[in-house]
Amino acid sequence: MKNSKQLNPRRRSGLFRGARLISIALFCAVNAQAAPLRALIIDGQNNHPVWPKSSIMMRQYLEQTGLFEVDIARTRYTWKGEPRQDWLALAGVGKTTHVAEPKSDPDFAPNFSQYDVVISNFGYKAADWPEATRNDFEQYVNNGGGFVSVHAADNCFAKWEAYNLMIGLGGWGGRTADSGPYVYYNHAGELIRDDGPGNCGAHGPGHEFLVTIRDVDHPITAGMPSQWLTTQDECYARLRGPAVNMTILATGKDSSGKAPTDRHEPVLMTVEYGQGRVFHTTMGHGETAFEGVGFILSFTRGAEWAASGRVTQAIPKDFPSAEKSSQRAYPSLAEHAPKVKEKQ
Ligand code: ZN
Repeated sequence: MKNSKQLNPRRRSGLFRGARLISIALFCAVNAQAAPLRALIIDGQNNHPVWPKSSIMMRQYLEQTGLFEVDIARTRYTWKGEPRQDWLALAGVGKTTHVAEPKSDPDFAPNFSQYDVVISNFGYKAADWPEATRNDFEQYVNNGGGFVSVHAADNCFAKWEAYNLMIGLGGWGGRTADSGPYVYYNHAGELIRDDGPGNCGAHGPGHEFLVTIRDVDHPITAGMPSQWLTTQDECYARLRGPAVNMTILATGKDSSGKAPTDRHEPVLMTVEYGQGRVFHTTMGHGETAFEGVGFILSFTRGAEWAASGRVTQAIPKDFPSAEKSSQRAYPSLAEHAPKVKEKQ
């Protein structure tokens, strides 16, 4: 009797503890499915006139994974948005004003800390953000926020030191040999850091080029074929930057016949900045590039990784191979289900 009295409470408490652990585990599992990752696409000033449409494309790609809730934040002054201006309203950010030259928006101040990942669709010559917004963004990433830099987002903000650390490598926009080394792979498969002189930022004409995975174990690239073709896109070259805490996941080899270099140039990268995770893709020049299945999957996986540190998305059946590119035609504006949430 004495023994059973001593044992019973222990057993009860053990059972109770077990049940509690199971219910906590169940709650976490349900919660992980129920709570979407919060993503913010930021745009407004980009030398690539596809940007009003490509922000909508990227939002849809993220939403189609079932993992994300996506908002868009836009500068009040927009540059190079006219050719695709019919797509502007789909962002649901209210009225904006076209400007002939990039102009700073003193009221651009997204609440970055509400999000798990921020995706930049800004580009070459984008005007500086207000200082308070730059400081907020630095703190957001430093404290563990995710950031994704798409194509020409690595062209802007050349003088912003923290931004250059986040993107690892950049091009154009006043960058020089002082910006940091060239980083690339040579034909022998060696990773090269080259502090030598030379300009910063170049590309040949858009074409389908071969991507080589350099880190097969990273969640973003795991399971991808070791080589695959882009759709028509620019293979950025001669990028320079601090390249601190940076990992090159994949390189591209320009075969346009007008390649600026004979190097395997970085096209997919990750950077650790403070507690934050950054995914940097140099792909995404125009509509065809944004329709590339290789672009889409690396982008949505990169965003998930930057937001959460993990990747749960499988490789789709239509993923490209080394011999065959793969493209998904994006619906026209008329076919596109509008998501207009005008605030004004
Ligand atoms: Zn481009």
